[in-house]
Amino acid sequence: MNDLRVKIITYGCQMNEYDSHLVASELAARGAHFVETVEEANFVLVNTCAVRGKPVEKVKSLLGQLRKEKQRRGGHFVIGMMGCLASLEEGQAIARDFGVDVLLGAGAIHKIGEALEKLEPFWDVGFYPELDEVVPPPPAGALSAYVTLIRGCDHHCTYCVVPRTRGPEVSRHPELVLREVEQLVAAGVVEITLLGQNVNSYGKDDPSYPDFADLIRQVAALGVRRLRFVTSHPMNFSDRIIEAIAETPAVGQYVHLPVQSGSDRILRRMAREYRRDYYLERVARLREALPGLVLTTDIIVGFPGETEEDFQQTLDLYDEVGFDAAYMFAYSARPGTPSYERFEDLPREVKIERLERLIEKQKHWSLERNRAWIGREVEVLVRGPAKEEHWALGHDQSNHPVLLPVAEVAGPGLYRARIEEASPHMLFGKVLEPALAGSVNP
Ligand code: SAM
Ligand code: SF4
Repeated sequence: MNDLRVKIITYGCQMNEYDSHLVASELAARGAHFVETVEEANFVLVNTCAVRGKPVEKVKSLLGQLRKEKQRRGGHFVIGMMGCLASLEEGQAIARDFGVDVLLGAGAIHKIGEALEKLEPFWDVGFYPELDEVVPPPPAGALSAYVTLIRGCDHHCTYCVVPRTRGPEVSRHPELVLREVEQLVAAGVVEITLLGQNVNSYGKDDPSYPDFADLIRQVAALGVRRLRFVTSHPMNFSDRIIEAIAETPAVGQYVHLPVQSGSDRILRRMAREYRRDYYLERVARLREALPGLVLTTDIIVGFPGETEEDFQQTLDLYDEVGFDAAYMFAYSARPGTPSYERFEDLPREVKIERLERLIEKQKHWSLERNRAWIGREVEVLVRGPAKEEHWALGHDQSNHPVLLPVAEVAGPGLYRARIEEASPHMLFGKVLEPALAGSVNP
């Protein structure tokens, strides 16, 4: 296709952001231009999320608009859909309804070039090992970047579509991961986030690969200033990994460890494999090794069969751990998942009411934990202007969102700052030193 003007719209998690970048790089290599709006584009590609009902509704409404645009242009407009929803039959039915021309499942996204060479509809929902061999170039001018470590998931949480959308766990070859990290560091990236549904399982599928603990050390040795990883599964969070984090200054003392529920009965129904005591023991071990630990989590409320007592156990666990922050979700019954097939959904009002109570709990703890940072010095990686007027937004080493006065910031880069105020969602700082040498992005 000549004169390819592309707009990519991304929903969902960081893995999708990485995948959109990978696809954009493949398209750029074929001469595509990227445009800001749908009106300027002749190819719009939607990278989709299928984890909850809400993102699916968003995709449907966007595809409705795109279908109208296609009709308005007499068909001279290509609609593409990729990612998790595209991998599901549910998504393929939606794609048929809305006249999607190019559909690539989460395991086939590298086929984008091939798809556009054919002047006919192209659908592929396979899982191809070649996808993991693609090493996308560093994002232009970025200070922060993602690197996929492992695709897919071998767990079978009963509420989750991911094992079906992203297939079984496949670790990327360590040489490719290290090469990608090396290129990013050379391009000036100061923060790298390693990605996977379960980064802790890295290497389990190939005995010749390092395990996740060793991989952390190898990646850090390449000179990356900040190293993060998401997501960790409590079951695979071994002492070896905790030791590697404690030994590696670039990782800092931040861990995201989804708990999902504080009730053993519900954890069992979710097939989460661990129980409440095991989770608390992992947290105690982490805090022993990392005394300044900032710990965040994911929680689902209103899972089928969750009683008020089960929910109370989640609230109690929250108090026992005192999480710094949490992503909280009302259970969403997703067609095709075991919990959808087997269990009856709770009334929406019950789920919403519990979610509101949990959010109150989270606000209380986040404020408490954030206030402890007042007066401390941190290093903030500023990304750009914040939504709030007169402030620039960045993140510190422990992944707290930090606002700095825009007047004190020369542009994106690293700044030393002192925290002066805290809210449940944010730290507010004052710049002590201008950007550290070499980190400002002109
Ligand atoms: N692999 C990661 C893990 O196990 O924690 C994250 C997977 S998922 C993309 C991110 C979060 O979405 C989960 O931790 C869970 O809290 C939430 N989630 C997944 N399925 C859900 C559902 N059906 N309803 C509500 N929340 C869900
Ligand atoms: Fe989904 Fe569970 Fe796998 Fe996470 S570990 S992706 S929640 S099945």
